[in-house]
Amino acid sequence: APGLYIVATPIGNLGDMTRRAIDVLGAVSVIACEDTRVTGKLLSHLGIRKPMRRYDDHADASARDGLLELMRSEPVALVSDAGTPLISDPGYRLVRAARAEGIAVTSLPGPSAVITALTLAGLPTDRFMFAGFLPAKEKARADTLAELAAVPATLVFYDTGPRLADTLDAMAVHLPGREIAVARELTKLFEECRSGSAADLADHYRSHPPKGEIVVLAGPPQAPEAPDEDTVETALREALTRLPPSQ
Ligand code: SAM
Repeated sequence: APGLYIVATPIGNLGDMTRRAIDVLGAVSVIACEDTRVTGKLLSHLGIRKPMRRYDDHADASARDGLLELMRSEPVALVSDAGTPLISDPGYRLVRAARAEGIAVTSLPGPSAVITALTLAGLPTDRFMFAGFLPAKEKARADTLAELAAVPATLVFYDTGPRLADTLDAMAVHLPGREIAVARELTKLFEECRSGSAADLADHYRSHPPKGEIVVLAGPPQAPEAPDEDTVETALREALTRLPPSQ
């Protein structure tokens, strides 16, 4: 059926391609993608030949209008280089415009590094905030971390190897006392997830510069420790001795 199909693709392990994603990519008229070489490789691995169109949200509006026009009469898929489109990847403006124009939009769930890292890190998952990439410049990064420090949730960031140690240094300052986890090369041969303090992890990754793609997580801010029963009991007894005598 005509419309826009958001299709998640693997973040490293090609075995994570879903059956539905393969069916839809095989059935659409056009595949909009970030990079035709990257998506071309995936398609040839899957034995699918389809016309591809480069799309990014910052491209001029005419590229978007062309795709929207096509979606009215044909099925169009959107994929990104890896993982789920729109998650630190292009697509938000396209989906927004399609919905505004009454075009059918559907999304095929699949791999995403944020969810994969969360399920691996052993940090609370009941409430988390995905904060994408931190700004590269030191001041902006510090400001962003200072702002996020108050959020009562696990924080999840995307990062890159060359920046990781600086990110961890900044976290040691702005997210003090929080458990940090670094998840690398998810779904790949050298998958790794390491937890500790930001300062210890910064030391580790300074001496072992990491390759590949990285997710950094920070556990929630420490809740003030709840007093144990004995402490409560002693406090109550003390308070009782201070009550005015009953009449
Ligand atoms: N749309 C993708 C998703 O759903 O995860 C994310 C795209 S974003 C441009 C790329 C970033 O995602 C990388 O810099 C890294 O932080 C994270 N990432 C992607 N694949 C990863 C993997 N296999 N292991 C760890 N992090 C990964």
